[in-house]
Amino acid sequence: MSSIKDAVKLMKDEEVEYVDVRFTDPRGKLQHVTLMHTEVDEDFFEEGFMFDGSSIAGWKSIDQSDMKLIPDASSVYIDPFYAEKTMCVHCTVVEPDTGEPYARDPRGTAVKAEAYLKASGIGDTAYFGPEAEFFIFDDVRYSVTPEKVSYQVDAENAAWNTDTPMEMGNLAHRPGYKGGYFPVNPSDEGQDIRSEMLSTMKRIGMKVDKHHHEVATCQHELGMIFGTLVEQADNLQKYKYVIHNVAAAYGKTVTFMPKPIKGDNGSGMHVNMSVWKDGKPLFAGDKYADLSQEALYFIGGILKHAKTLNAFTNPSTNSYKRLIPGFEAPVLRAYSARNRSGCVRIPWAESPKAKRVEARFPDPSANPYLCFAALLMAGLDGIKNKIDPGPSSDKDLYDLPPEELAAIPTVCGSLREALESLEKDHDFLLAGDVFTKDQIEGYMALKWDEVYAYEHTPHPVEYQMYYSC
Ligand code: GLU
Ligand code: MG
Ligand code: MG
Repeated sequence: MSSIKDAVKLMKDEEVEYVDVRFTDPRGKLQHVTLMHTEVDEDFFEEGFMFDGSSIAGWKSIDQSDMKLIPDASSVYIDPFYAEKTMCVHCTVVEPDTGEPYARDPRGTAVKAEAYLKASGIGDTAYFGPEAEFFIFDDVRYSVTPEKVSYQVDAENAAWNTDTPMEMGNLAHRPGYKGGYFPVNPSDEGQDIRSEMLSTMKRIGMKVDKHHHEVATCQHELGMIFGTLVEQADNLQKYKYVIHNVAAAYGKTVTFMPKPIKGDNGSGMHVNMSVWKDGKPLFAGDKYADLSQEALYFIGGILKHAKTLNAFTNPSTNSYKRLIPGFEAPVLRAYSARNRSGCVRIPWAESPKAKRVEARFPDPSANPYLCFAALLMAGLDGIKNKIDPGPSSDKDLYDLPPEELAAIPTVCGSLREALESLEKDHDFLLAGDVFTKDQIEGYMALKWDEVYAYEHTPHPVEYQMYYSC
């Protein structure tokens, strides 16, 4: 954590030429504007920087467009990609006249969620450990594109299912359908690029620990050490920024879309969470899986509000192509210490300090500030209202007899369903004004546009199924 003085010292020590002022829009995309270093001093961090917020989708209209960015000195880092020495800083957005947080600013919501936790008296710190998976493809100018991999996976599935020979040439060492986890090179072609991504993160001050190929063809994951809510949402933005830019330098592209390849695993963003109070872990105890009663209620809140959470944790139309059985992604609103087929898992922990709950349904298309804040609000609602999560489900849920399976509630099947749920069930998000009605309305308007764009566009598979009807 650096203070304003530290940030200004870093600027001087590193002979910084530019300061890149960054913030996140409601859809989760990092935005930036670059200032000459002569514009930046200690006052800049206190007073902020005016900008026109009207061109950001889902924010203000043109007649009330002036907004202010307040830089957070604790988030500074030296950009690892720009040719000129540049210091980056993540910002929250405030109303210029009152200095109040701008309600539709996702980072501001995350800041308020942390304050709400403290004010609730339940805990003082929430830790988050997201595990965002992604795919690396060649730039369209080169060779491995999602279309080609989909074709390859389709052909391999056909070979798998029917024992027909594959008519697709030599795949050399490329991992096949669900075969990427995790043979060494040359099957794993991503070693060098992932190492460069992880080392770059370390150089900009992130705490990182590992990287590996994931189950699907071309799918990867890098490991970040857990951190507090806002800190970790900032880190996820840095994670994506570094990954996209190292990939670009290799002539590759990365996608965090949840299901780019039909028939192979999708990309999840499991979110590990724990709440602490007075330096003690609140989730460790003597109940199921060595959890505390509070942790069980926290799980109860997550499971109860899961369909509303989906609007933030799985906010793309593509998200629901991942949330289907058979690809390690959860569908059922159940929890367990063992199996991975439910929405919440309790990972084995070597000490009470490491005790945490893992929400498995989120995916990396989520805006991390809104995703983490919404998860925390649902969990705290569970604790406040003593929401019983019911019995744990320790069998493989997909092996259950059909009647038992049908009795377990599910997550949403579409973004449409998630938005309808958000419309009906959002009071738990409004507690402490962490989210506001105006913000939720603005967010829903953006997301309905995506639903309509998707629902109103003929899909390639429809030509296949219905063209000659
Ligand atoms: N890719 C899986 C998912 O969509 C997760 C695999 C894993 O457990 O890491 O959630
Ligand atoms: Mg993984
Ligand atoms: Mg996990």
